[in-house]
Amino acid sequence: MVDGLLKGLGVSEAAFTNGGYPVHTPIDGSQVASVTLEDKAAVAGKIDLAHQAFLSWRDVPAPRRGELVRVFGEVLRKNKEQLGELVSVETGKIFQEGLGEVQEMIDICDFAVGLSRQLYGLTIASERPGHHMRETWQPLGIVGVISAFNFPAAVWAWNTSLALVCGNAVLWKPSEKTPLTALACQALFEQALKIFGQAPEGLSQLIIGDREAGEVLVDDPRIPLISATGSTRMGKEVGPRVAARFGRCILELGGNNAMILAPSADLDLAVRGILFSAVGTAGQRCTTLRRLIVHRSIKDEVVARVKAAYAKVRIGDPRKDNLIGPLIDKQAFQSMQGALSQARDEGGQVFGGERKLQDQYPNAYYVSPAIVEMPGQSAVVRHETFAPILYVLAYDDFEEALRLNNEVPQGLSSCIFTLDVREAERFQSASGSDCGIANVNIGTSGAEIGGAFGGEKETGGGRESGSDSWKAYMRRQTNTINYSRELPLAQGIVFD
Ligand code: NAD
Repeated sequence: MVDGLLKGLGVSEAAFTNGGYPVHTPIDGSQVASVTLEDKAAVAGKIDLAHQAFLSWRDVPAPRRGELVRVFGEVLRKNKEQLGELVSVETGKIFQEGLGEVQEMIDICDFAVGLSRQLYGLTIASERPGHHMRETWQPLGIVGVISAFNFPAAVWAWNTSLALVCGNAVLWKPSEKTPLTALACQALFEQALKIFGQAPEGLSQLIIGDREAGEVLVDDPRIPLISATGSTRMGKEVGPRVAARFGRCILELGGNNAMILAPSADLDLAVRGILFSAVGTAGQRCTTLRRLIVHRSIKDEVVARVKAAYAKVRIGDPRKDNLIGPLIDKQAFQSMQGALSQARDEGGQVFGGERKLQDQYPNAYYVSPAIVEMPGQSAVVRHETFAPILYVLAYDDFEEALRLNNEVPQGLSSCIFTLDVREAERFQSASGSDCGIANVNIGTSGAEIGGAFGGEKETGGGRESGSDSWKAYMRRQTNTINYSRELPLAQGIVFD
């Protein structure tokens, strides 16, 4: 299923055959490849090489560094279809979303190329005569990227394109569930390196490994920045370990995203927004819509319309004309069923959520998306279950809706559907949504690369991608220059 794709993308056959670690596709559960997991010694060797690469790359002018990323973007454009299909086969997301993931990589490359000529600092007025001050941004070192299974390529590209133009080297440990997409990304990057020429060896390396390999990156003081995407559980382990050695983290962790649906809303728009946000990627996006906070006066109508839309959603092979592919594995299915049973115990009424296509695919886990009407925001609603479950909560007044939006441990994405400008502005005000993303008349998922991406509270506080996220990948330096013949001290101190 993947041999032709991998070879076409430039991956050597030896890299995905004869290894001791089996790789399965969630489409039918079959084994499609095997890879070798790298041990701690191999990871340490890669860190040495990355450090050497950084020492020369940091002196390459930033616009020239941008040229490498520009070439990489071109390579991605040429290979978009094949890489998109591989993403689909390895994660189970539908082909359209696989293509979207590669487009996101291309977009961030374009953004980073422009950025390579805009790593602007400041000039600052000095209090001393004959002096000036400025703030400059310097390369940081090695950036360690740890990524999750559900965006097996884009998250690496978000980090790597910015890290490279900022003058850093990169070490990437992808999810052990998606090593094939990672091998393909690395092969494409190496094609770009050949075209570019003259980049130091080991500038951006891949580590195929499990969490132990990730832990080597987490603990190594030569890696000043760890950008880790995954569950809150992972972030709770990684964050304190990196902090203990005074390293920095960009943490992109779990979400529990809500939509407030107000009585004035355009319901046609809202139902479409709910559908894409709640069932896209089979509910396995960090920004998936998990909580619908709907005004009591329209709740029955909305639930009926969402149920009708759910009933029409085509479930099946993600490479064909379907809208929902499989869950990533059996464990994901079991955790979904566990959450539905807990929801029933907590007073929920469950619609959907059953296993589908079991006869055709006994070793794969297709499900119908679930809608669960809940009496309140109970424990199960406050927890992120990485599956297509949409909890529905009713509200009576707007303040209550805002409170429900914010009263969960996570703080990634949120949205409101309303035509009332007061509600829309309040939602995006200081006392509105407490999330990193707050949209109006747009669902919770499907962010553009131009904005900073990330969230608050247990989502980890990190920001990636657009806006000024690049600053996290650089070292800030304050410079004061004396062009006078005196040596005045700051604060007027006399020291004669
Ligand atoms: P996961 O936490 O199981 O694994 C993520 C990565 O962390 C993997 O590469 C894994 O090997 C590594 N890892 C795990 N424990 C580690 C440790 N102690 N030290 C070092 N590395 C460790 O997550 P997953 O199941 O692959 O992905 C789903 C989760 O990711 C969901 O919670 C989802 O919300 C979250 N996610 C968040 C974002 C975001 O931007 N906020 C984006 C995508 C996914």
